Amino acid sequence: MLKVWIDAGHGGIQPGACSQGYKEKDLTLQIATLLGTELTRCGFTVAQTRTTDVDIPLDTRGPLANKWGADYFVSVHLNAGGGRGAETWCSIAGGKSKALAECVQAELVGLGYVDRGVKTRKGDDGRDYLAVIRQTNMPAVLAEVGFIDSTEDMARFDASKAAQAIARGICKHTGVAYKQAVTVPTFTAPEITGLTLDTPNGKDLAAGEKYTVLARCQEKPAVTTVGRDVIAVSEPRLDPKGRGWLIDVQGLPPEPVVRHGHITVTADGVTQQCNFNVI
Ligand SMILES: [Zn+2]
Repeated sequence: MLKVWIDAGHGGIQPGACSQGYKEKDLTLQIATLLGTELTRCGFTVAQTRTTDVDIPLDTRGPLANKWGADYFVSVHLNAGGGRGAETWCSIAGGKSKALAECVQAELVGLGYVDRGVKTRKGDDGRDYLAVIRQTNMPAVLAEVGFIDSTEDMARFDASKAAQAIARGICKHTGVAYKQAVTVPTFTAPEITGLTLDTPNGKDLAAGEKYTVLARCQEKPAVTTVGRDVIAVSEPRLDPKGRGWLIDVQGLPPEPVVRHGHITVTADGVTQQCNFNVI
């Protein structure tokens, strides 16, 4: 089983580049965390430089991966400085580092980023300039997932998609089949359960009594009430069981004449109605 070390850039008192209200350290951690999930699902063994907002000194990152015996090292950053697009850094020695960088870069470009290419930089001592690439003794790459100071790049930024792209790149390079996450079933039309729809078969609700309507739908439903103020209706909230949205309905002291109310729920382009008898 291949071992991949994931290195979320910066952290703690080292925010990295900050722009447009974003801090690089937060975005790199988001991507790194999701990348860990992606790679684990695909069968890799994963370790991370950090899983929280802490400062891990730059010079300890490579040695930690060396000690763990990583087969690959992947560092995640965002760029800054007025450009736009994605680039991936690799070792001046080329080899698997370059081959992996090319796979990762191709996937990032596939997300729509401008292709700034695969890059290397030699330091004054003739070795790799980037510490995490210089200090690791396994193939290492550093991906710059767009520019944090580019409105265009940040409009495109999606930590989940970035993690998927980097994972696909690693899979492609290593010949491991990329496994997509199992998609959550989607509901296209609201289905209101737990109620019959028409009086006199509607739900009986005493004044003060609460009833919860489940709306099975993806988007937050819009709810309107009709029938004079015999019921009070809450804002729809996400069902913790993931079935859709919950809407609380409470019976109010009935007026002399109107003894029923209904709610009209619209979501995903479909409208349905629930009736209540307020008794
Ligand atoms: Zn950085």
